This record gives sequence, structure tokens and C-alpha cells, in this order.
Amino acid sequence: SKHVIVIGAGLGGISAAISLAQSGYRVSIFEKNDQIGGKLNVLRKGGYTFDLGPSILTLPHIFERLFERSGKRMSDYITIQPVRPHWRNFFEDGVSIDLHPDPAVMAEEAAKAGEDPAAVERFLAYSSRLFDLVDEGYFQKGLDTAKDFSEHYGFFQFPKFDFFRTMHGGVSRHLKSAKMRDIFDYFIKYVGSSAYQAPAFMNCLPAIQFRFDLWYVPGGLYGIAEGLGRLMDELGISVNLGSAVKEIRRDGSRVTGIVHADGSFQPADIVVSNMEVIPAYAELLGEDERFMNSLSRYEPACSGLILELGLDTTYPQLAHHNFFFSSDQKAHFRAVFKERRLPDDPTIYLVAAGRSDPTVAPDGCDTLKILPHIPYIDEERPLGPDDYQAFKERVLDKLERMGLRDLRKHVVVEHLWTPHDIREQYKSNKGSIYGVVSDRLKNFAFKAPKQSTRYPNLFFVGGSVNPGGGMPMVVQCGQNVSAKIVEWDRN
Ligand code: FAD
Repeated sequence: SKHVIVIGAGLGGISAAISLAQSGYRVSIFEKNDQIGGKLNVLRKGGYTFDLGPSILTLPHIFERLFERSGKRMSDYITIQPVRPHWRNFFEDGVSIDLHPDPAVMAEEAAKAGEDPAAVERFLAYSSRLFDLVDEGYFQKGLDTAKDFSEHYGFFQFPKFDFFRTMHGGVSRHLKSAKMRDIFDYFIKYVGSSAYQAPAFMNCLPAIQFRFDLWYVPGGLYGIAEGLGRLMDELGISVNLGSAVKEIRRDGSRVTGIVHADGSFQPADIVVSNMEVIPAYAELLGEDERFMNSLSRYEPACSGLILELGLDTTYPQLAHHNFFFSSDQKAHFRAVFKERRLPDDPTIYLVAAGRSDPTVAPDGCDTLKILPHIPYIDEERPLGPDDYQAFKERVLDKLERMGLRDLRKHVVVEHLWTPHDIREQYKSNKGSIYGVVSDRLKNFAFKAPKQSTRYPNLFFVGGSVNPGGGMPMVVQCGQNVSAKIVEWDRN
């Protein structure tokens, strides 16, 4: 059988490797880090456990398929449990509003925000329609380009995508209260983009959470990587850790294999890169400037300041997932995505996993992961350690002001990653944490094609190709790229 080399054991690479092994290929995976999972990562420090990467699991049925295709059940490998409420949203005026999948609870929360509950229901119905539309083609079929898209959907379906609006436009057409608008605009966090620049069909994101629920893995989300690792072993996939790939070899218009850090060559019939498209072409293939410029519309999504704090106390007002909203969220998005500077008053995501899981912190203590979205690394607007430190202090000031009193005094364990650490760790383009940005004008949420336009036996998987960005999407992407390879190989 043919040999496929997968570069990178992020969730995208893992999903591709499993799907290809299930289709009869011999698969070897090479990962530069000492563990699998990529951005799905864990930090254990001083008796505290932190989800260092993703903390919200959605669309578990996409993961389930990887097990089902081998006649197994995911529940034998990974335990998942729903989270209540989904999110708690804090505002500077002291009001807090929960997102809850129970319509009766949601109606009460909407009223607290000064919103007509019926308007929220109509918005969620709109979101659901968008989800069905997007899921059936863009997700399931793995459409790559505007051409694939128009062939699949046909012209008459275009208006259903709410084509001429931004995500924020779609939100504000349905919802009147500033708080509800801020909350639903911030669903764009799932793909690290701006609600003012992403296309309106991104309003499919709330349906993902409200229809299919929001999940946690007891012990921490890294349990997903461990479960998938077991499945890879059972399928006989060769998993090589601490193995950075430094070059993809080619011969004319075909790739022939990879070169390891020690200079040794390993041949392959097909190469799948879970390293993002832009760094892979630049660093592993050394493509010329003209070709690299042709990829410039695939701008990175945002990066983040990833701050973990182990506390010697708990803040009972916190839910598992919390958002502390900017008093001017439009300015937050503008700073991060247009001006590419650190926002003055960011919207902050804060995870207190102890609400669902007593094992992540000592008794009477909280473990906090704090994640404000910030710009990717932009050489033209350089930010240094002092800028990130000053920004961190602004974040802590805001949290203390908004109810986490004396937060700094209760910190006993601390860990901080800037975009430079993120880039170093995962080799993502400019420290992006969700792959390519979704922007109506730059790319209409399209990304580079999964099959290389230069070398037909080179494929890409993960956040820099469709449907990209977010755990379930890169797992879907691995299944899609495998199907694409099987079809291409047959012809
Ligand atoms: P990665 O996970 O980055 O995998 C790429 C792998 O390739 C890495 O392991 C890297 O080391 C390896 N690699 C790269 N180059 C080489 C090379 N040359 N040789 C060998 N190996 C190489 N998503 C959600 O769904 N929910 C969330 O709550 C959520 N929160 C997030 C919070 C944070 C802080 C971060 C960072 C991300 C979050 N995400 C979330 C996004 C999600 O983690 C990613 O979209 C997804 O995990 C990316 O998977 P991937 O396979 O595309 O890339």
C-alpha cells in the first residue's frame, strides 16, 4: 500500500492520519514537539491543571466519526460532559448574563439584557438555517474555492448566505440590545476573526453551541488527544515525536518525501502537511516571492495572550466559561484586526474549569485560563515583551475592576505565553491561533486549497485550509482531505 507522511500531529494531522489509515494507506506522522495534539495542550503546574489550548469542545459527532469508521465507540476512549451555563457574560455596568441552551432560561437572560426574548429566538433560528446551509456543503463536502462553492450551491442559493452583510450586520438586524449584540458578535472568537469583517454566514456559530451543546472532558481537554492517540496506535500508524521536518523534497511537480532535522531523507508517495500553508511553502519548500505573494490574502487569524493563574482562593461568581466584555467592542475588534495594536479595553475570555471539575485545582482554589485575543505578529508594527507585560496589567486591572477583587494577591502559580511563544511552539503563521482569518473582503472565509496547486501529491490539513479554525473544523478537515486523496489517487 502507498505510504503517506503527515507533517505535524495537531488535531488536523491526527484526523487525516486516522482517516487515511482507515482507507488502507500506510501512514507515518512526524511531530516536532514531544507530544501529540498541537495546540490542544495541557499545562500541569504546582497542583493546578490548565487547558493551555482549547477549552471548549463543540460538535463531538465529528470526532465520533473517527472512531465509528473503525467500528469503535468514542465513549470507550474519551469521556465528555455538557457544561451549564454555556457562558457567563460580564459587563462593565455590573450586569451579568448567561447563555443557556434551555429556551426558558435563555428568555429570562435576554430580558435581563433588555432584549426581546422572541428576537433571540428568531436570531437563533436564523443561525440554525445558516448552519444547515454551511454544514451541508462548506463543511461536509470540504469545498475549497469560490468555484467549488458556486458549483455546489448554485447561484440561486447565494442570497441565503446573507451575502451582503457582515456578521455584525446579521446580529444587529435581529437584536437591539447592545449587550446581546456584543455577546453574539463575540461568537466570532471561535475562529479568531472580527465580527465587523467576517461574512454574515459566520452567524452559523451560535447554532453550533445551542443545537449541539458545549462539552468538557473531565481531567482537561487534553484527554481528546490521548483518546485519539490510542486509536492511532490501534490502527498501526507510526507516530514519531520530537521529529521536526525541515524540508519537503520535490522532483519537478511532485513531492518525493521529507528531510529530517539530521539531514536524512524519507520517501513518501503522498505528503500531508499539518504545518500551515504559508510557513510550509516558505520554510519547507522555499517557494519564490511571487508565489508567496499570491497567498497574501490568506491573512492569519488573531493570536492571543495566554495567561494561566493558579489561585489560593475561588471566585464563586464565575461560571466555567466567562467573558468580560470591552466597553467598546467595536474598538476592540478595530485595534486587533485593523490597527493591529493591543486593545485599550479588550474583551477577555476567562476559563474556570474548576466549576465542572474538582480535579484541576486544590480544594478551595481556582485555576484560571485568561485569553484576550490580540494581533498576530506584524513586523511592521512590532510589539515587545514590555508591551505584552503592560497589556497583561491592563487585563488584570479590568478583571479586578469587574469583580475579581484582589486577584493579583491570590496568584500562587503563573504562566504566560505571547504570540512569539505560540509561533515557536506550533510553527503557526505569525503566531495565529486559529489559522486563516475569515474576512468578507479579503477571502470571504475561503482559504488555500487542500490540494497544493504546485505539487498534486502534496496536501494540507488544519486551520489554514477550509473549513479550518477550531477543533471540530480541523478534525472535519482531516476527514475531507483523506476523502480528497482517495478520490485523486483513484484517477
Ligand atoms: P496545530 O494544533 O497547530 O498542529 C500543527 C502541528 O504541526 C503542531 O503540533 C506543530 O508542532 C506541528 N508542526 C508544525 N511544523 C512542523 C514541522 N516542520 N515538523 C514537524 N511538526 C511540525 N478551538 C476550539 O474548538 N475550542 C476552543 O476553545 C479553542 N480555544 C483555543 C485556545 C487557544 C489558546 C488556542 C491556541 C487555540 C484554541 N482553539 C480552540 C483552536 C484550536 O486549538 C485549533 O484550531 C486546532 O487545535 C488547530 O489544529 P491544527 O491541526 O490545525 O494545528
